[in-house]
Amino acid sequence: MAEYPGLGEVRGKRVLVRSDLNVPLDGAAEAKVITDDGRIRASVPTIKALADAGARVVVTAHLGRPNGEPDPEFSLRPVAQRLGELLDASVTFAGDTVGPEAQEAVAGLEDGQVVVLENVRFNAGETSKDDDERGAFADRLAALADAFVSDGFGVVHRKQASVYDVAQRLPHTMGALVATEVEVLRRLTIDPERPYVVVLGGSKVSDKLGVIDNLLEKADKLLIGGGMVFTFLAAQGHGVGNSLLEEEQIQTCRDYLARAAASGVEIVLPTDIVVADSFGDEASARVVAADAIPETTLGLDIGPDSASAFAAALADARTVFWNGPMGVFEVPAFAEGTRAVADALTRVDGLSVVGGGDSAAAVRTLGFDEDAFGHISTGGGASLEYLEGKELPGITVLEAS
Ligand code: ADP
Ligand code: MG
Repeated sequence: MAEYPGLGEVRGKRVLVRSDLNVPLDGAAEAKVITDDGRIRASVPTIKALADAGARVVVTAHLGRPNGEPDPEFSLRPVAQRLGELLDASVTFAGDTVGPEAQEAVAGLEDGQVVVLENVRFNAGETSKDDDERGAFADRLAALADAFVSDGFGVVHRKQASVYDVAQRLPHTMGALVATEVEVLRRLTIDPERPYVVVLGGSKVSDKLGVIDNLLEKADKLLIGGGMVFTFLAAQGHGVGNSLLEEEQIQTCRDYLARAAASGVEIVLPTDIVVADSFGDEASARVVAADAIPETTLGLDIGPDSASAFAAALADARTVFWNGPMGVFEVPAFAEGTRAVADALTRVDGLSVVGGGDSAAAVRTLGFDEDAFGHISTGGGASLEYLEGKELPGITVLEAS
């Protein structure tokens, strides 16, 4: 088969694929080790399908947050190598994104071969807020290809050259990964099977309040753990010691609690909390009532009673969306709440979705089988923005022809 869905015949065509290869790396530049290759593995099916169809595949992606200029710390070279191993094919690497190396590498591609271009964020145009500057860079990217496949779900909420502008310049379609992610998100927002339970945690409290706002009318239950718990507990008038707290959001949380009560949505807050004397201090870990957090301590996980209550609330759910660990799962003494929720998700008879980079990492580091979950999303920010009801520019641009 030499066709790719949405693009038609691709044999011999140069196809630019925007993937999300933004993986965690450890070690010094030149000797980087990939600590979790989940995103690379998630990118393989689309790249492989194109290569198998005879396309000349040009992969563009970013890594980390370089300053719009080359920085060896953020080179995609080790990622290209890992991609080659996973594809079981030789993958060439171009040391620049749109410069002479890239042009030469693309010109040298044979049908079915793959090249990875250097970090797209080494170019200031990629993330520029100036439409002309971004467009000029997109012109150069587009000149390397005959068609475009958007498969970097983790970046579809960004109006960036390799995500948005390039789609306006080339025949385009969604890659398999983005298509799956969008399908799952639709099932979470349009007519979800009930009961629909949403579990939120993590550390970026204000990032997640928008999701609560939008899902308050859609979900049947909202379970809240992680760092945002304390802003809710404060909203109920409880002291939270030195726990993570966003004072300016207390009133918002109070409003959510009132809205939930008025609309019959159950917001479930933990009744007990694992606290410690300082961040990550395992030796001092102990369980206290959620309304009696000692002033000198900080909350680092939901307690065992809460973990059981959350698991019970998930037991009969038919649709679950979970974003954000229940506690500081990186430290074993504060990982049990997250483990209980992950475990409950694996038992859900219906659609269970894990969103968020740290949540996905938690599932893996705690030793769960990824296949036990309905879907593990590769894009935290993108899925949250979708669930907030925001438009994702990288998707909209594909739908407009
Ligand atoms: P995700 O990447 O899944 O969206 P976040 O980035 O929002 O999740 O949050 C993940 C981080 O939240 C983890 O590193 C975890 O240690 C931290 N976290 C969870 N609970 C707490 C807490 N009570 N206090 C401080 N940090 C917390
Ligand atoms: Mg995170």
